Amino acid sequence: MYSTLPLDEIRIEELEVFAHHGVFPEETENGQNFYVNATLYVDVSKAGQADDLSKTVNYGEVCHFITAWMQENTFQLLESVCEKLSGELLCNYPMVTGVDLEIRKPHAPIGLPFGCVSVKVHRQWHEVYLSVGSNMGDKEAYIRNAVSELDKHPLMRVEKVSTLTTTKPYGGVEQDDFVNGAIKIKTVLAPEQLLDELHIIEAAADRKRELRWGPRTLDLDIVFYDKLVYESDRLIIPHVDMANREFVLKPMAEIAPNFRHPILHKTVAELLQTLQS
Ligand code: ATP
Ligand code: CA
Ligand code: CA
Repeated sequence: MYSTLPLDEIRIEELEVFAHHGVFPEETENGQNFYVNATLYVDVSKAGQADDLSKTVNYGEVCHFITAWMQENTFQLLESVCEKLSGELLCNYPMVTGVDLEIRKPHAPIGLPFGCVSVKVHRQWHEVYLSVGSNMGDKEAYIRNAVSELDKHPLMRVEKVSTLTTTKPYGGVEQDDFVNGAIKIKTVLAPEQLLDELHIIEAAADRKRELRWGPRTLDLDIVFYDKLVYESDRLIIPHVDMANREFVLKPMAEIAPNFRHPILHKTVAELLQTLQS
């Protein structure tokens, strides 16, 4: 978890679920017992102070949810069960900020003596800031549509959208003015998965990649992903040029003035002030 505060946990241990997941036909036909260990990260302080079940997550309900879900769905891989079920838990229980989910399969058909096999994942909501821009066609409509596509995705929630403003093009290519904005989302997706989803939304808006910094119907960039510092051959977080771009910093300053850049250690408002001075 990205918070440095101690986190409260609700634990479910060794929930027994008879279900039909597996690669072999006899597993999907006959079924077998699975054992679920789940740690739900939930702030339980308010419930604890008020002694009020409605202020926390009802673990009984979660046990029934897990059981029903594992029995209604069939997957070949434990990996898939963990991946999908952890997303379902995070989406269906808004108070759960993160989950560790382990599924054990002690009767897996391995043909050797063994204790158990299991898969364990950790998934959580991440706070992400996106920069959005358009300078072709109905620019505002492309951006509004992108916001609604983000919000429709089961593993994303749009939390804030800045005002959209018209800006002069950046990067020296002669082209039409841009409309730019910033969006705050919560997502369960990992950074590279999120980038893939952004590319799908761009492609659906008929985005072509012809000229670097050239005209585009829709551009969605990841500015911050929690306080993560990340670099791969296709993704750099925080966005590498954000501190030099007023069209990124201005809308960001509207929705997250106090968000501190994890490398430059300045807030968005301070970065904007530095750029403008
Ligand atoms: P810039 O990244 O300077 O704003 P651009 O947005 O015009 O330029 P694109 O053609 O949209 O550039 O993207 C080029 C590639 O940049 C993407 O395919 C992606 O792999 C990579 N990239 C690296 N870091 C990021 C990031 N933080 N957000 C989005 N894309 C990124
Ligand atoms: Ca960009
Ligand atoms: Ca981009």
